[in-house]
Amino acid sequence: MRRLRNVKIVATLGPSSSDYETIRALFEAGADMFRLNMSHGTHDEQRARYDIIRQIEKDTGRPIAVLADLQGPKLRVGVFAAGAADLEEGEPFRFDLDPTEGDGHRVCLPHPEIFEALEPGATLLVNDGKIAMRVETCGADFANCIVTTGGTISNRKGVNVPDVVLPLAALSEKDKKDLEFACEMGVDWLALSFVQRPADVDEARELAAGRAAIISKIEKPAAEKAFDDILAVSDGIMVARGDLGVELPVQAVPPIQKRLIRKSRAAAKPVIVATQMLESMIESPMPTRAEVSDVATAIYEGADAVMLSAESAAGRYPVEAVETMNNVAISVESDPTYREIIEASRAAKRNTVADGIVAAAREIAETTDVSAICCYTQSGKTVALVARERPRVPIIALSPVTATLRKMSLFWGVHAVECEEVERFKMAVVNAARAARDFGFADETNQIVVTAGVPFNVQGTTNILRVAPCDERLIFRTDPE
Ligand code: PGA
Ligand code: MN
Repeated sequence: MRRLRNVKIVATLGPSSSDYETIRALFEAGADMFRLNMSHGTHDEQRARYDIIRQIEKDTGRPIAVLADLQGPKLRVGVFAAGAADLEEGEPFRFDLDPTEGDGHRVCLPHPEIFEALEPGATLLVNDGKIAMRVETCGADFANCIVTTGGTISNRKGVNVPDVVLPLAALSEKDKKDLEFACEMGVDWLALSFVQRPADVDEARELAAGRAAIISKIEKPAAEKAFDDILAVSDGIMVARGDLGVELPVQAVPPIQKRLIRKSRAAAKPVIVATQMLESMIESPMPTRAEVSDVATAIYEGADAVMLSAESAAGRYPVEAVETMNNVAISVESDPTYREIIEASRAAKRNTVADGIVAAAREIAETTDVSAICCYTQSGKTVALVARERPRVPIIALSPVTATLRKMSLFWGVHAVECEEVERFKMAVVNAARAARDFGFADETNQIVVTAGVPFNVQGTTNILRVAPCDERLIFRTDPE
């Protein structure tokens, strides 16, 4: 099985997508990575989904990436005696540390750190920004506010404090437990919510201890400001437009999306555009034209992946949502304008031998008739560099390392193929040609580009580029050892 597009699709699993048949259908419709949202569900439920994904890998012979998305320091109000309260503009409302049930005048906000950091004039947003308040007076255990946008506040609704860098640990106790659980299980990627500073990423990396790669979710103004430093210490980026659009004015999100995609690509790190991409498909089998355009825009901008959240986790049409993304991707990527945009936005920075080799591979693919760029890799690093080039032809990434194959499934344009360890370059070429033919990228009359590092099976040594025939007899006749 192969995809007919380069951009990847991330599908969140949840109540609508927890059995083998549905997850398999999502995979076949185009999902390349599955996201387990640790904000919802029990460890047993997540493990059941994880096991199904690995079973599908076995049954299809294709590597699949799994992402565990950690909830992060998400603030929530306590509960109300009546379950909810209606707040009107201009009325006072108080947050405090008193655990008794709330009413129309006050509620518990069980986060002492917040009260420490608040200042008069700061904005508090509740329920995805639907309710807004301004802090009038505050102390170590309370904040008296005025409601500036009214609405219904209810049990455990989320709270955002956009103006303040919160003195919160990046990982709550729950996050640490979830991280350990996810790494032990064997997920390939971790996503960190509400990252505020590079040190947050360092902390998670230490706990992950090499077991999973780390995606920073950019959803705080502080993270947007410190983006270059956060990118430098992350393995990937998620443009988390849901909370970002609460913490900042919604119209700030599209320019940030463009900038984050460009910078992540320049750094050869995968970038995912997330949230509300096909929101109406939670209820409807047909997306709005604006949603289709939103998915298309992210692809034109050069994102590595587009993501489904509630659409696939809790919606009525999870498979149709993946199909829609797949169809939009095929349409955009066959548009000549797409190629023009992608090529015009290629970063020129080339510092290493590997950079030079992948740029050459891409140029050869552009100027001559080759069917694929095939890369031998241990860690996936060279493959990330090839993906950054956004070549015209498919990238076939060959590796004997299962974790690397799974991780690379998120990279733009990469078709990951398991191969045995090879000793001699000739066998690497033979394997590459075979993979290209087996998965329908080439036939015996075609040529491929092969990159590898010799000696083999040592990380970080890419130093060979070869244009090879796909016909094995020709390889044996013409290739040096
Ligand atoms: P979430 O993150 O779905 O975990 O909130 C994505 C976002 O905020 O956009
Ligand atoms: Mn979020």
